[in-house]
Amino acid sequence: MPPAAKKAAPKKKAKAKAKAPAKKKAAAKSSNLEFKNFEPYKPKRGEKYMSEKQREHFRGILMNWKKELMQEVDRTVSHMKDEAANFPDPADRATQEEEFSLELRTRDRERKLIKKIDATMELIDQDDYGYCDACGIEIGIQRLEARPTATLCIDCKTLAEIKEKQELG
Ligand SMILES: [Zn+2]
Repeated sequence: MPPAAKKAAPKKKAKAKAKAPAKKKAAAKSSNLEFKNFEPYKPKRGEKYMSEKQREHFRGILMNWKKELMQEVDRTVSHMKDEAANFPDPADRATQEEEFSLELRTRDRERKLIKKIDATMELIDQDDYGYCDACGIEIGIQRLEARPTATLCIDCKTLAEIKEKQELG
């Protein structure tokens, strides 16, 4: 009976163990905040930027990405429900709470990302996708594949980051 054996494990050991997997899990989840599971688009010679085919390509990426994120959110919720009752010991509970707050932060990031993905799909529908919000130039297929929700070209993004750093001090 493996589940029973797991519960009977010594408590000290369980505590030491609990920290490492929490970090590992976070790393695994944050990789979901990027989406790599697609074939890079190869435009035909002379193909117009953001042709219907290209928009279809990015719509597909965004939809699959969203689906993955939503599954992840569901998994987090059911995981927390499953585990919530399992730790009567206060020390274990503290570790567990740490883990939960980490998961909640990740979930929060995922939710925000899902909203951003929705907004990006709207842009595609309005045929307004792929152009820099600040200067209006084409963001470019490669950059969009690396960051499908990008709304700034690489130059404007770099500039914005520099400004942000300066404002922070
Ligand atoms: Zn720009």
